[in-house]
Amino acid sequence: MKKICDFKTKKEIEMYVKSLLTSVGNCNSIRTKWPEVYSFLMDDLFPRHSDYPNKISDVVDVGLRPNSTNHKAFEVYLIKSDGSIDAISYINCITQNAKDELNGAFRTAITDQIYAFKAINSNTCNICKCDDKSINYHVDHINYFEKLVYDFKKLYEIYPTTFDSDYDNRPVFKFEDSDFKDKWYNYHKIHATLQILCRACNLKRKKWVNPDKVKPVVIKEKKILDPVYLTVPYSQKDEAKALGARWNPTLKKWYAPHAEEELIKRWCGNS
Ligand SMILES: [Zn+2]
Repeated sequence: MKKICDFKTKKEIEMYVKSLLTSVGNCNSIRTKWPEVYSFLMDDLFPRHSDYPNKISDVVDVGLRPNSTNHKAFEVYLIKSDGSIDAISYINCITQNAKDELNGAFRTAITDQIYAFKAINSNTCNICKCDDKSINYHVDHINYFEKLVYDFKKLYEIYPTTFDSDYDNRPVFKFEDSDFKDKWYNYHKIHATLQILCRACNLKRKKWVNPDKVKPVVIKEKKILDPVYLTVPYSQKDEAKALGARWNPTLKKWYAPHAEEELIKRWCGNS
């Protein structure tokens, strides 16, 4: 099984992925039938997706089916833990666009910090404490990577918009942006808090929510209703009281202070 870093161009990656999918063919569980292909997709290809890691959160398997319009082509779909499925474009994972290139360049720039952390920490998941030698452990940002990027970007008015590619085909900052890159590198070194996670725990982790994208919560004003008098038989007074009814000593009547639905249903009108 090859790795994406074995290829020089995006075209080569695309051809390789296509030939791989053709050899797999129609398949409803790549994880069980083609475990090596599954690892390649989950660990190598899908992390390049523009909506990673959200796109593959909760994924438990991957399937492949003929494209509904072009039956010679296959489309990849993700199987979530609740059984639902979601299409994923492997082309998106290969080509990547400009906004993702910036995020990609932020990631590539701190790769050696990630490797250094991995080198001095044993392969034990910080959450479930599993230590399976045969699986690939991830380095995760406890204080989210996306948040670090978000905070760092706030310090600048403009940031690079064009990038180079490294030998692994990953986006990197151009030479003229070295100053920006160094500032990010140091910012990350100071602020990032890392941990080792197994893939399952990594995917289960709650995602960071971009505060600029959170919809404002509309607070509905609760209308306060007027009291409603009740007809409560003496034998039921404790029950009514427990449900919020009050006693008016002047009128010698029970009432629902704010027309509480439950009280009205039981003790108002037709009883
Ligand atoms: Zn774990």
